[in-house]
Amino acid sequence: MPRARRGGLQQAGDLLAPSGQALATVVIVGRPNVGKSTLFNRILGSRRAIVHPEPGATRDPNEAVVRWAGCEFLLVDTGGWEPKGQGLTALVARSAEDRLAQADLVLLVCEAGAVPSQEEEALARRVQRAGKALIVVANKAEGAGRALDAAGLYRLGPDVIPISALHGLGVPDLLDLVVSRLTARAGVGQAVSRPAVDLKLALVGKPNTGKSSLFNRLVGTERAMVHEKPGTTRDPVPFLARVSNAWVLFTDTAGLRKKAAGLDAVSAARTARAIKEAEVVALVVDASLPLTDQDRRIASQVAEAGRACMVLANKWDLVPGQERPRLLQAIQGELELLKYAPVLAVSALTGQGVRSVIPTALEVKRAWETRIPTAELNRVVGVAQSRHPPPGGRVLYVTQVGVAPPTFVLFSTGRLDSTYLRYLERALREAFGFLGTPMVFKVRPRRRAA
Ligand code: GDP
Ligand code: GDP
Repeated sequence: MPRARRGGLQQAGDLLAPSGQALATVVIVGRPNVGKSTLFNRILGSRRAIVHPEPGATRDPNEAVVRWAGCEFLLVDTGGWEPKGQGLTALVARSAEDRLAQADLVLLVCEAGAVPSQEEEALARRVQRAGKALIVVANKAEGAGRALDAAGLYRLGPDVIPISALHGLGVPDLLDLVVSRLTARAGVGQAVSRPAVDLKLALVGKPNTGKSSLFNRLVGTERAMVHEKPGTTRDPVPFLARVSNAWVLFTDTAGLRKKAAGLDAVSAARTARAIKEAEVVALVVDASLPLTDQDRRIASQVAEAGRACMVLANKWDLVPGQERPRLLQAIQGELELLKYAPVLAVSALTGQGVRSVIPTALEVKRAWETRIPTAELNRVVGVAQSRHPPPGGRVLYVTQVGVAPPTFVLFSTGRLDSTYLRYLERALREAFGFLGTPMVFKVRPRRRAA
């Protein structure tokens, strides 16, 4: 379940990096126009400085998980700092306050060469009093006298670093400093009780079905890219992003970013690994073309792995209107092995249906992890049996022995054939849902007492 968010942002203590460590929060603050957004975008590795965040994105466009030198943190760009402002400005300042309260480390961006304002001094004092780490960023220091330009800012704190966000100068040094300050702080990086990853998701499918396009739609193009030091391998690269209010770990983004990285088409081995590391697998098919054996092969890989799954019928924009009503069912029918999986009509091109992907994936994951009380199971199986008694033995007792996927043991007086097990499976799905999850049945015939 997506957890409650406060002020649009989770507390750092609630988050875990994929490594299982708490995710630290680094908040960028500063007066308007000092270059906060430019710095934010620069850090995200976006070549094109998107100075104004796009509104209406499903994830908060002002935050992203950044990886640098093996350390991951949540980077937050605040919309300006003007505590005395009125109207809109005051609102922005309030949300900046919210975010500041959650920071482990604050990047106070100032203009190099300028004398610190009273507001900046007051803010720096507050940050330090609150026990947060502070780095003063002397931005717009692209001239020859970079270090000198920064000198006036030492009044704000001992860590002052001259950079030019616009030209990228000094930004790697800044990130090195951020990482060293974060790792030096007690508490940050320690395990917390709740897992932060709400969903581990693999997007799989044959080439050209639109996996990369869907990934970009889901996480929001360039801003979502993690920043990594060069030397990226061809191994699956997990990637954490906040989508639809959930932290989603995409298990293989190297595959999804293959075009950008110039890698080969998705290999079977890579698909297998992405599936193994996922909780939910989204099988992406091209709805505008007939399914092929390759689609069915990947479907059987997903089914065999016992993962929860959903089918994304992509390129829905290309499906003629008169074919649409029947097509989803037809796809479900053709992917016989995944008949329990919901099929969603989506278009990475137009964005249609994309908003339902993560909520549906979360629902499917819940089903995968469902545990049904024994009494309810036996009631449903009892009713099903009395409606259609099994030809051979009889189920005496059923109990769920596992989740992910749900696994049941049936104690019976004799063997139960696969047709009958399918009948019981249908009855249990009717009663309890189990959308998108395989169900495993183990029959334990009991000898009659002599
Ligand atoms: P924000 O209001 O703090 O988010 O500031 P912006 O990121 O929107 O930047 C304000 C202006 O400063 C824009 O015109 C940027 O292009 C410019 N700017 C940002 N960083 C630098 C820099 O390092 N050098 C120079 N010369 N200009 C910069
Ligand atoms: P991948 O190989 O599965 O990652 O597929 P891509 O994301 O690279 O997409 C393959 C091609 O299909 C590209 O030319 C995309 O522009 C196109 N494409 C992806 N999604 C859609 C869609 O929803 N509608 C249409 N019309 N084209 C799409």
